[in-house]
Amino acid sequence: MKYALVTGGSRGIGRAVCVKLAQMGYQVIVNYVSNDAEAQNTLNLIEEAGSNGELLKFDVSNQEEAAAKLAEWQKAHEGEYIEVLVNNAGIRKDNLLFWMEPQDWYKVLGIALNSFYNVTRPLIQPMLRKKYGRIINMASLSGLKGLPGQTNYSAAKGGVIAATKALAQEVGRKGVTVNAIAPGFIKTDMVEGLDEATLKAQIPVGRFGLPEEVADLVGFLASPNAAYITGEVISINGGLYS
Ligand code: NAP
Repeated sequence: MKYALVTGGSRGIGRAVCVKLAQMGYQVIVNYVSNDAEAQNTLNLIEEAGSNGELLKFDVSNQEEAAAKLAEWQKAHEGEYIEVLVNNAGIRKDNLLFWMEPQDWYKVLGIALNSFYNVTRPLIQPMLRKKYGRIINMASLSGLKGLPGQTNYSAAKGGVIAATKALAQEVGRKGVTVNAIAPGFIKTDMVEGLDEATLKAQIPVGRFGLPEEVADLVGFLASPNAAYITGEVISINGGLYS
């Protein structure tokens, strides 16, 4: 059995990643925080793709809860380990810094950046012991360029990029790669309410990306073929920014 964990796997990019990893033969652990029905839908899609999965509901921004749930999983799967981790959960709470309430700063940082520590730390030791692992972190164009109205989100994603580069250097010799993906605009619930017609006029490819296109990139980075790629940030944005 080969296991992969996808945080924020109930919807959007995370769901497409779950299906991709299922097609690659992984048993997929689907993390989410609240949407039971959509998480179940992801599980059904994993089964339709010919694999098996399980739901692991916890808030990635809560260190104690994440540690407890991951320890519970490990106890129930003695001798096994999670060899692919996709840190994908994230939210947006946009506002100009001038108007940004403290909870919108700390919540975005908690879910997009502290989660990196909360989920990765318990899983890194088994990967090092087995001398194989793949960690893929969902960053954003916002974390590379910085976007106005998103100081919180840009800071979180910029932090994820720096953590990716640092961890990659810590674990490279042990067969564990750590990379980040920086999507532009991808058609999911997260971009609902944005003015797609105006925004896509600025994208050289002329459209928003699809979750499945991001999932294909995750699939490659998760594969043994990507063994010599680590500490990288790979943009997938239709040419919007490079
Ligand atoms: P989405 O459709 O809004 O889905 C968000 C996912 O994250 C859901 O599965 C949600 O679970 C989960 N989640 C939220 N808070 C959580 C928490 N505290 N603990 C555990 N899970 C939590 O988002 P998306 O567009 O697929 O985005 C996925 C990732 O890509 C995010 O990191 C996002 O920042 C990044 N990204 C997206 C875009 C884009 O254009 N869509 C661009 C750049 C980067 P529930 O269903 O339970 O709420």
